Amino acid sequence: MRNLENLYRQVIMEHYKNPRHKGLKGYPHVHLKNPSCGDDITIEADLKDGIVKEINHDGSGCSICCSSASVLSETLSGKSVEKVLELIDKFYEMIKGGEVENEDELEEAMVYQGVSLFPARIKCATISWKALERLLKGENDE
Ligand code: ZN
Repeated sequence: MRNLENLYRQVIMEHYKNPRHKGLKGYPHVHLKNPSCGDDITIEADLKDGIVKEINHDGSGCSICCSSASVLSETLSGKSVEKVLELIDKFYEMIKGGEVENEDELEEAMVYQGVSLFPARIKCATISWKALERLLKGENDE
């Protein structure tokens, strides 16, 4: 278990130091802040024919928040809107410490499983997922 935790921490730090999909390209986006931690994140997505073709992010915050935006962009880009919304719900359930079926579908996002033990950090891990969820439900911060 300890090795698994170390592995998870390594993945999180890797994404924090070398974020994937960072930098906005001008697609519709949603901007969210988490004042209790100082996280400030924007998620944008290129939606076409029911597919989330590309997800990008920008902003600043703690390692949990920034790495989570990177993992989200990499894990969910290219999937259908329907599938992405399903995986977002799955992620929330996992973060709350709930039982999740087929949790391997979350791919690298599984590394945030341990966050359920730190309720104060849940917002950090989910903020980019909340922004994407709003975006897929039609919000767009011009
Ligand atoms: Zn944070």
